[in-house]
Amino acid sequence: MKFLSRIFEIRTDKGPQFVDITDRVVEAVRQSGLENGFAVIFSKHTTAAIRINEAEPHLIADMEQMLEKIVPSCHEYAHNRYAHAVSSNGERPNGHAHCQQLLLGASEAVPIVAGQLMFGRWQRIFLVELDHGRDREVVVHLVGE
Ligand code: ZN
Repeated sequence: MKFLSRIFEIRTDKGPQFVDITDRVVEAVRQSGLENGFAVIFSKHTTAAIRINEAEPHLIADMEQMLEKIVPSCHEYAHNRYAHAVSSNGERPNGHAHCQQLLLGASEAVPIVAGQLMFGRWQRIFLVELDHGRDREVVVHLVGE
């Protein structure tokens, strides 16, 4: 059994933003030489999620609208009042981004079979930025043989 970890450093431009990281994950699996196992793709952040969906621009606009509708950025969040009070410690008024991330989740796992990630035809992996553009880290942990 082998274990391999990579960290992808990703600069996002805005929130929300769906950043397609599929090609980088595929390349990491190819370089690993793993034949069978799985890849865990994990966001190290509380306001950026990892999700699998389709990279169709109109659909991405729909998904961005859905996030804003379910958890509006203009709502009053207790976290925002707290962040304003302690802004010197780096907290930001981004309650909507935390609540949206709670719904989406921090990771996805994808099986590796015969050296290939077992994606369906339309599946892509996204880092979903929910706050503002910034530096992000995504851990890709590969397990298998
Ligand atoms: Zn915050």
